[in-house]
Amino acid sequence: MAANKKQIEELKVILLDRKESIIKHVNTSRSNIEELKSQECKDDLDYAEISTDSFIEAQSANQQLAELNDIEAALDRIDAETYGICAMCDEYIAVGRLRAKPFAKYCTPCREIYEQEQQ
Ligand SMILES: [Zn+2]
Repeated sequence: MAANKKQIEELKVILLDRKESIIKHVNTSRSNIEELKSQECKDDLDYAEISTDSFIEAQSANQQLAELNDIEAALDRIDAETYGICAMCDEYIAVGRLRAKPFAKYCTPCREIYEQEQQ
């Protein structure tokens, strides 16, 4: 079943919320990374440990930024009224799938094909 206008509105709220929390998280990560880096200069003994921390911190920030891109793209599709339509086969994406992953670009069958091609 395709998402109706009301459901799309609800998903939009979820997307906007998620966007806000990612931006906050990424900003926190950035200042954490800066802090960890400045600590690295002061103390050589803990260097390895701190490097790992800032690496993990940076990696998680990158993942969040990738998700942020997907969210922005989904919000653009809502504005363009192409939201909830599979980018590969032009079929409607099931509303259950959109609820689980509001920024889904593909319907479930296309997603599976896409993932197989990536391997
Ligand atoms: Zn599809």
